This record gives sequence, structure tokens and C-alpha cells, in this order.
Amino acid sequence: MRCEVLAVGTELLLGQIVDTNSAWIGEQLAASGIDSYEHRVVGDNQARIVGALRELLSRSDAVIVCGGLGPTQDDLTRDAIAELMGVPLVRHEDLAHQIATMFRARLRDMPESNLRQADVPEGATAIPNPLGTAPGLVCPVGDGKVVYAVPGVPYEMQEMVRTHVLPDLLRRSGVAACIVSRSLKTWGTSESALAEMVAHRVRALDATGNPTIAFLARGIEGLVVRVTAKGATEAEAAALVDAEERELRAVLGDLVFGVDDETMEHAVLTRLRARGWTLGVAESVTGGLIGARIVNVPGASEVFRGTVGAYATDVKRSVLGVTAGSVVSEEAAREMAEGARRVLAADVGIAVTGVAGPTEQDGVPVGTVCFGLAVPGAPAEAVSARLPGDRERIRQFATISLLNLVRLRLDALGR
Ligand code: ATP
Ligand code: MG
Repeated sequence: MRCEVLAVGTELLLGQIVDTNSAWIGEQLAASGIDSYEHRVVGDNQARIVGALRELLSRSDAVIVCGGLGPTQDDLTRDAIAELMGVPLVRHEDLAHQIATMFRARLRDMPESNLRQADVPEGATAIPNPLGTAPGLVCPVGDGKVVYAVPGVPYEMQEMVRTHVLPDLLRRSGVAACIVSRSLKTWGTSESALAEMVAHRVRALDATGNPTIAFLARGIEGLVVRVTAKGATEAEAAALVDAEERELRAVLGDLVFGVDDETMEHAVLTRLRARGWTLGVAESVTGGLIGARIVNVPGASEVFRGTVGAYATDVKRSVLGVTAGSVVSEEAAREMAEGARRVLAADVGIAVTGVAGPTEQDGVPVGTVCFGLAVPGAPAEAVSARLPGDRERIRQFATISLLNLVRLRLDALGR
């Protein structure tokens, strides 16, 4: 089964928006074991949309078109597909009714043009859009081939691809119907080192082709090892993924900080909550980023006491009680962690101080960062690092690095 992607929109050609939809669809197709060899972009022009569809269909089984399904004059995808199929557009009264109801529910008047979205090429079926007004389309185009049309709005597109397009493609491809994938998120090693660690698993799986392993570099969010398995049932695919996860964890150990949507801050809060401990933060170079990440986690309030943004030297001294001569030093980081614990009345205090640049500070080079950590029953500790990159990257790196240190320190306590 081979499926190509066609993104429609003049905005994409002009560089006003970036085509993230094709990238996302490509990732899903790959994870589902469906080949995709071409992604194309065309503007809002009916003749060019039809031309691109004809060409792509001449060498594939299916095309997913995204964008141009809306109600305005420049939304031409459904007209183009009708032309390709050689059929008229037919108004579906049930869709028209749904669209009108959606507008009423939002207490808005509906411009008549919105009913265009209830027009479906004869012979095509509509895909419901629970998140917006434009339905998607499944269009048989002869020779057993199919064109799917989905909206340009990313979350509407993703919902339809996940719930309708991929299952339909898998059904048509006649292979095992269920796909399960799981991402093991890691922090603390390089891509090449990670690849070496799991090379024996990649080789072992090459023989069967199921499950498969992929590496995804997520920048500041670390490196992801994704396992994808196919099975006749969801349970069968999940069992294959479970078994491979155990193999991978045996070599990756504590490099893995989370699975799928779990973030580093989630990993830290889960560990603190398990001990019934609260957390206080003192941050200089990150200026509040650490606190902002922690409050991303629902339920953070049970654990998180707050963050002290102590940027100026005299604030570090007066608020946190820092006495160290240099405020970018391990001693200062230790004192800041203790200060955070005291001032915020927290069980665990963590801190970061450093130089994000662009220029060095009192002889301390750009990228120097000191992390402090104070846990109950032990003297405060500190480590320093030299982080790469520009100002933004150093601050982001410092944030995740400190959270990772806390995670590892809490795990070490448990052993
Ligand atoms: P609408 O009903 O909103 O008009 P539509 O199906 O006509 O939906 P478009 O008009 O093509 O979709 O795009 C709507 C918005 O979705 C764009 O303004 C843009 O923000 C986003 N979008 C469209 N195509 C893409 C794409 N390929 N990648 C990322 N975002 C996109
Ligand atoms: Mg539109």
C-alpha cells in the first residue's frame, strides 16, 4: 500500500505557514507501515490541485489531501476532487443541518457560504468533523484507488486521520489491522551512543520486521526510541510492544524518563508525590522556566511550593541567603537550593545559576551552569556543566538538565 500526501494552500507556497501537516501525516503513515514516497504542495488553484492528484495517483494507491475544505472562495479541494472523479457535487442535507447546528451552538450567524461544506462529490462519503465545520471526504477514484480530503486545521486533520483515514487505509491494504506504538523518551546520551546501545535489538527485529524501532531526535525534549508493532488485534500488537519495551529498558536503564506524552517535569513530580515531598525552586539563569514547566503538569499544586526568580546578585543574597563570593559557583547553587527549601518551606530545594551569554560574566564563560539540590536528610549538593548553544538553548538545556538531575537523585534515594 502506497499513499502520498498533497498539502493545499497558497499560504504554504508563500512561506506564510509551515507545512507541519504533511510531516505529521508522514510520521503516522510510516508508523502504520504504509509507504509514502512523495509529499507535494500546491496553491489554491483547482487545475493544479487536479493535476497534482492525477500525477500522484498514477503511481500510488491513495492520496491524502489536506487543506482547502473550508467555506471560502479559495477553498477548492472538493471542487477539484469532483472534477477528478468526473461527477457533480451533491448537497448532503444531514451535513448542512449539522453545520447549521454547530453555528447555533456557538451563538453565531451562519454565512450561507458555509453550506458549501455540505457538498460532497457524488459517490464519495463524508468523514464527520467533531472539532470544526468542514467534514472530510473519502473519495473512490477508480481502479480501487482512493483520495482522502481532510481539513488544514492541524487538530481537526489529526483527529480525522487517526480515527478514519489510517484505519481505512489499513483495511484496504489487507494487512493486520491494528498498530500500536510506544515512545520511550530518553535524556542524557547522544544519538549515536543510543543507536549503539540498541543496535542489537534493531538487528534482531530486522529479521521479522515486526515490531520496528525508530529514533527521533526531539531536541530539548531528548531522544525518543519508538517501538511500533502490527497485530491482528490490539492486544496482540500491544504484547509485541510490551516485550520489546522490556528488552530496550534492560539496556537503556535510567536514561528512559518517560513514555509517550510523559514529560521530564511529570517524571519529577510523580517521584516527589510518591514520597509525599514538596518542591521549592530557586532559579537565576532560567528566570522562571523551571517553574513554568512544572506547572504544566496537572495536579502540580500538591507538590510544587513555588519558584524564586532570583536574578540579581543582591536578591540571591537578601532573599535566599547566598554568601558565596561568586554567584555562579557550586557553592552559590548549594546555598540557593537550601534557600529555596527554607524560604518556600519545601522538602526538596533545587536551584540553578549560570551564564547564558551572549558574553561571559566576571570571567565565567558562557554556558557555565551550576545546579544545586537539597533533599531531606543529606547535605546540599551541587554539580556544574558547560552547556552548548545560544542564550535560549542554554536556558532550555539548564531547565531540563536540572529536572533530570532531580529525577536521578530521587531514584538513587530509593535504592
Ligand atoms: P477552514 O475551514 O479553516 O478554511 P480548510 O480545510 O480550508 O479549513 P485551510 O484554509 O487550507 O483549511 O487552512 C486552515 C488553517 O489551517 C490555515 O490557516 C493554517 O493555519 C492551517 N494549515 C493549513 N494547512 C496546513 C499545513 N499543511 N500545515 C500546517 N497548518 C496548516
Ligand atoms: Mg480555508
